[in-house]
Amino acid sequence: MPLPSSPQLDYVYWRYDRSGYYSVRSGYKYLIQTMYEHSEDHNQHNADKERSFFCNLWSLSLPLKVKIMFWKFAHNFLPTFANLSYRRLNVELECTLCRSGVESVEHFMCYCSFTNQLFTELDLRFSAYPVWALWIYRNNKVHENKSQSAKDLALYVLAFVQEYDGIHKVSSPQRNTDNACWIPLIGDSVKVNFDASFNSSEKRSTSGIIIRDSSGLPMAASTVPHLFTIDPEMAEVKACEQAILLTHDLGFRKVIIEGDALNVISKLNSLVEDRSDIGAIVKNIQDVPTYVEEAVEDDR
Ligand SMILES: [Zn+2]
Repeated sequence: MPLPSSPQLDYVYWRYDRSGYYSVRSGYKYLIQTMYEHSEDHNQHNADKERSFFCNLWSLSLPLKVKIMFWKFAHNFLPTFANLSYRRLNVELECTLCRSGVESVEHFMCYCSFTNQLFTELDLRFSAYPVWALWIYRNNKVHENKSQSAKDLALYVLAFVQEYDGIHKVSSPQRNTDNACWIPLIGDSVKVNFDASFNSSEKRSTSGIIIRDSSGLPMAASTVPHLFTIDPEMAEVKACEQAILLTHDLGFRKVIIEGDALNVISKLNSLVEDRSDIGAIVKNIQDVPTYVEEAVEDDR
C-alpha cells in the first residue's frame, strides 16, 4: 500500500478485497486460497522428502532385491490381501502372521503383533532387511504353510546381514598400497604372486601370475582367462589355483604364495574343510603336490 502524501486518519483495511472492505465472500475466498497454498507447500515438501529418502535408499550398500522389496512395500505395491481384494479377487483378508486384522501394508507397519515381535527381537524400529524377510516369510506361510517364530526370523535376518557384509568386504578388498613392496626370499624357494580381475556382467575373470626367485628376478608370468566366474572371491581363488599349477608345471617345489585376497589365503591356511562355493577349488590347490611353505596376504 503506498503512503499518503498528506496526513490522514488511520483506518482498518481488508487487503483481500479491492474495495478494502471485508465481506464474507472475500473472507471465504481468502481462506480457501490459503488452505490450497499450504497444501501445495506441504505436498511439495513431502515430495522432496520422499525423493531424498529413496535416493538414499538406492545408494545404500544393500542387496538389490532387498531395496526393491522395500520400495514396493513403501509404495503399497505388494499383493497384500487388502490390495488383492481391492482388485476384486476373492481372498481371505485376515493377516496370516498374526491372525488379527486385515493384511495390508498399514497393518504390517502399525498393528501386526508378529511384525512388532520381529522388530523387538532385532531391536529396530523399521528398516529394509526385516521388511524384506517379513514378506518372504509371509509368502512361505501363505503358499507353503511354513511357520517360523519371530525369534527365528530375526536370527535369519541377522545371519543374512552378516553373510552379505562378509561377501561385500571380500568383493571390495581394502588395499594398503602406501608401503607395498616385494619382500625378497631367503633360500631356494620361489615366490608366486597372483591377482584377478572380475567382470560381473559377463561373469568372466582373468588370473595374473608372476613367479620370482629369491633375488626378485622374474622366472615366469602368465595370464589365464576364465568363464563362469560368479563373484570376485571365485576369481581370486581361480587365480590362486593357476598360480600353484604353474609353479608345479615349471618344476618349482618350494613355493610361497602371495595374494591380496585375505579370504582365499585364510582358507588355504585353514585345516577345516571349506564347504563354500569355492571349497572345491581350495581343495584342488591343497592337493597339488607342491610344498607351499607359506600362503600370505600381500597387503603390507
Ligand atoms: Zn498381522
